[in-house]
Amino acid sequence: MSDSLTEYALEKLAEIEAAGLTRKLIPTDRTQAAYLSRGGRDYVSFSCNDYLNLATHPVVKAAAIEATQKYGTGAGASRLITGNYSLLPALEQRLAAFKEAEDCVVFGSGYLANTGIIPTLVGAADLVLADELSHACLLAGSRLSGAAEYRFLHNDLNHLEKLLAAHREQHNHCLILTDGVFSMDGDLAPVHELAALAEKYDAWLMVDDAHGLGVVSGGKGSSVQNGSRANIPLQMGTLSKAIGSYGGYVCTSKAVADLLRNRARTLVYSTGMPPAAAAAALAALDIIENDANRVARPMEHAKNFCRSLNLAQPHSPIVPIVLGAPERALSAAGKLEDQGFLVTAIRPPTVPEGTARLRITFTSDHKAGDVDALAAAIREHVL
Ligand SMILES: *Cc1c(COP(=O)(O)O)cnc(C)c1O
Repeated sequence: MSDSLTEYALEKLAEIEAAGLTRKLIPTDRTQAAYLSRGGRDYVSFSCNDYLNLATHPVVKAAAIEATQKYGTGAGASRLITGNYSLLPALEQRLAAFKEAEDCVVFGSGYLANTGIIPTLVGAADLVLADELSHACLLAGSRLSGAAEYRFLHNDLNHLEKLLAAHREQHNHCLILTDGVFSMDGDLAPVHELAALAEKYDAWLMVDDAHGLGVVSGGKGSSVQNGSRANIPLQMGTLSKAIGSYGGYVCTSKAVADLLRNRARTLVYSTGMPPAAAAAALAALDIIENDANRVARPMEHAKNFCRSLNLAQPHSPIVPIVLGAPERALSAAGKLEDQGFLVTAIRPPTVPEGTARLRITFTSDHKAGDVDALAAAIREHVL
């Protein structure tokens, strides 16, 4: 190969390989609930974000099939043209009620939501302050907005306040960004304290609850902590994790929702999500509201697992085992795979340099025996 495009790609790939960071797409069929098949072999998966195993739940699947029969496989256009089939406003109302907000806007995915919302609300004259471990798509939205951006140390309220004191006045509006449940660490943002700081400095707080809804605080999500809902004007999240479907959303005031419907480019210029995805999300929300045992189980599994390995008590069903070098994480994941457990190694740039890890997620349909067996395998082969 001598063309410069191919040469460029090969050079880049060689660099990635030398750093131990090559990634591969592996055909994987999630056959049922917490189990999957890969390369002709069955595994117990501890890597899916389908925390409640609703993606394969018969009632959720039936709802998706029925919606496909009724509305077809695709929305056919942007929601502002002809793509706003009636399940979408129904889903928005349902999510707004769930999050105790006035209104809600649904996007094609969580990534599309964040890269649409943030540049609609802030621009070059404004300030974004983001937790340093915020999800990549919050940071992508911030970059797209052109606002001045500073990162505060993870969950460090003192550092955030220092940045507010130093920079807030020089900017018109200020947006504070954080995950509610941190996707690679499983800890929670201190939402009440963040809301208080936002109010003190006239900043707008946006919390990404991708791993919270259906999972923490009895399923209510990370905006509810210590029994009360924090004052978060932008409660963003995804339908692709505990909801078991696909799509993103933000619950907010009616005025902000209307502004997003007019201006968020990822809503205006992107096709509405497929009807099956919206119907599945509605059916999943029913289950989350009515099946407290299913909602409680991922957290119970995580607690039992941590207790048996003497790890700190978890705040969510995401439990990281930080190993350091990428090769160590890969080798640990390989050993677990040999034992029939799928626990993906997470490496930079998804996590900071030097913190490659196993990221373990627990789900409702794991059996107590699966969790015990994983703990035993980790004790023997990893720790
Ligand atoms: C997964 C994730 C997203 C992206 O959501 P998708 O619907 O998968 O695009 C956004 N934020 C966080 C914190 C996530 O974990």
